Amino acid sequence: MIAEVTTVDLERQLGAYVDYLRDMGVYDLFYRGDPKVLFPEGLLEKPSASPQSESTEAPAAPSRFAHPAQDFAAPSPLAVSDIASGFPSPMAKPPSLDTLAPLPTRAIPAADRLAALESIRAEIGDCTRCPLAYAGRKTIVFGDGDPNARLMFVGEGPGADEDASGLPFVGKAGRLLNNMIAAMGLKREEVYIANIVKCRPPGNRTPEFIEATTCSQFLVQQIDVVHPEVIVALGATAATYLLGVKQSLASLRGQWHSVRGSKVAVTYHPAFLLRDPRQKAEAWKDLQRVMAEMGLIAPKRS
Ligand code: URA
Repeated sequence: MIAEVTTVDLERQLGAYVDYLRDMGVYDLFYRGDPKVLFPEGLLEKPSASPQSESTEAPAAPSRFAHPAQDFAAPSPLAVSDIASGFPSPMAKPPSLDTLAPLPTRAIPAADRLAALESIRAEIGDCTRCPLAYAGRKTIVFGDGDPNARLMFVGEGPGADEDASGLPFVGKAGRLLNNMIAAMGLKREEVYIANIVKCRPPGNRTPEFIEATTCSQFLVQQIDVVHPEVIVALGATAATYLLGVKQSLASLRGQWHSVRGSKVAVTYHPAFLLRDPRQKAEAWKDLQRVMAEMGLIAPKRS
């Protein structure tokens, strides 16, 4: 007699194998291609509730293998089929944003940039492309600021305050970022602020590889529209996924990088600076390099 294999069995088996790989230090696991290869027709479940309607702060973790197939089409160096065959590839390096889409041949006219950003937002819709859609997200935090900004900040992902308001960097870390921007002689409305992921990771955990790389397609478009002279990557996650490198923050600070025709500087995340204020002086050095590059002058202290 052939035992019936249910999605629950498959989930359990694959979940155990993913847990095993994570215990072994392999974190960069995500779908490539069509999960129907693994799941017979009709066995894929649909998510039951709209994530936008969920109101609890920490909902149950979503089923790892119960998302619509088309929502997991991000490029992946490690496919479920690789995992199932027992030959996972080495730890994946995130793709550089320069390789995700052709570089724009010309800048979008300044007058059209707001509309271009709005159309990216419309394309995102009520996004279910990655697991964060099912992990208690209330609001998609698209981005904020001047579509013609010369300077863009990129953080990691929304926290609780951002998830509630729909705006990036409005909590404690956001207040510190506002002060950093003011110290550079700019107003928050004069810069553009976005994140690697647009949905809040549960418990403010670091976004997973699939979440960051799935969301990158929209960040690329935002960068191409705003086309800032300088992008400041706030923290290691932003630097990793913007630049497509796996290096320490220390090794990335203090030099210029490049993404989609914009210069990129790397500095500490404001949330880290709140935890370790002694590093503020180091972050200020990073910002001063940016100011020198852009010809910005710090306001006189009153
Ligand atoms: N931290 C981030 O990285 N982004 C936000 O928007 C808020 C906090």
